[in-house]
Amino acid sequence: MKELLEDVLEGHRLTSAEAAGLLKARGSDVWEIAAAADIIREQTVGDVVTYVRNQNIHVTNICRNLCRFCAFGRPAGAPDAYDVGDAGIRAQVTLAKERKVTELCFLSGVNPDFTAERYVEMIGIAHDILPEADIHTMSPDEITWAAKMSGITTAEVVEMARDAGLGTIQGTGAEILVDSVRQKFCPNKIPTAEWSRIIVEAHNLGLKSTATIMYGSLDTADERAEHFGVIRDIQDETGGFTEFIPLPFIHENTPLEKAGLVTGGSIGREDILMFAVSRLFFDNISNIQISWGKIGERMASLGLLAGGNDLGGTMFTDEVSVEAGASAADYFDPAAMKRITDDLGRVLRRRTTVYELLD
Ligand code: SF4
Repeated sequence: MKELLEDVLEGHRLTSAEAAGLLKARGSDVWEIAAAADIIREQTVGDVVTYVRNQNIHVTNICRNLCRFCAFGRPAGAPDAYDVGDAGIRAQVTLAKERKVTELCFLSGVNPDFTAERYVEMIGIAHDILPEADIHTMSPDEITWAAKMSGITTAEVVEMARDAGLGTIQGTGAEILVDSVRQKFCPNKIPTAEWSRIIVEAHNLGLKSTATIMYGSLDTADERAEHFGVIRDIQDETGGFTEFIPLPFIHENTPLEKAGLVTGGSIGREDILMFAVSRLFFDNISNIQISWGKIGERMASLGLLAGGNDLGGTMFTDEVSVEAGASAADYFDPAAMKRITDDLGRVLRRRTTVYELLD
């Protein structure tokens, strides 16, 4: 392992098999991997830690996919199903305007009633109220469904949304880009090849996106590393990913937990390794985001020591994580972020969605 880390520091590109080996590390090896990732982080992006002033816009929890790892989605007609409609979107975006956010993240189930035209309407409402914000929405799953509902191609959906004000595409829904795993916990989601095709298509249409991984449920280290390979190959082709975001599975209240298939989510060792090996593997993605809403502020500090350089967003509201039992997924005050970065001797900077530094 020491030799491999030295090779990486000298420019060796990790293979997925090598990454899988590192993701299985135990004991003090974990800290050596984190230390190597910290060196690469410093060489790649320096000491700046970024965040974006963003807010989730909760649109609907009605979802046709009903993934087994998700505590948020509801079938249509469920007693607590909701769709906030135009008035609800307007109210949330108006609040976001008062909060001076620069990114609006639509957080939503894949509502079976939503057509491409409905997405265009919703994006248009947000864009009219806050035209300067980046509207971050439309995962590949939503794009696929909207295309089907409207009888048009996925490229046409992306173009319509872009013309209505869509700023960047959500790289969520990636989960684990290994079909055998997807079959186990999100069989209704599009398969890996389709997810990849739509992301490449969107990048080629000029829209950037995030890249994510959700780990810590039924997936193995080998499958996580295989997912890394899919993302890196796309980035080699398009350069359209702004960042990579490891998202630990939050298990509480999920169908997987209720079925007794999981008793917890990821553990700290896995989290540290996911941040660190992401940094070491993705020589073509500059930004590794530490999702404080999923791991909490204390682990976020450690994530920044293990290859991370971005704290994501202020968020304000994240019902997806809260419904699954995450305690910290509400609002992260930049002053609290600064306390962490000051402690680490790093510099906190606000950014846009596509990583232009502000202030
Ligand atoms: S993860 Fe997304 S697509 Fe899956 S059930 Fe939850 S809201 Fe629906």
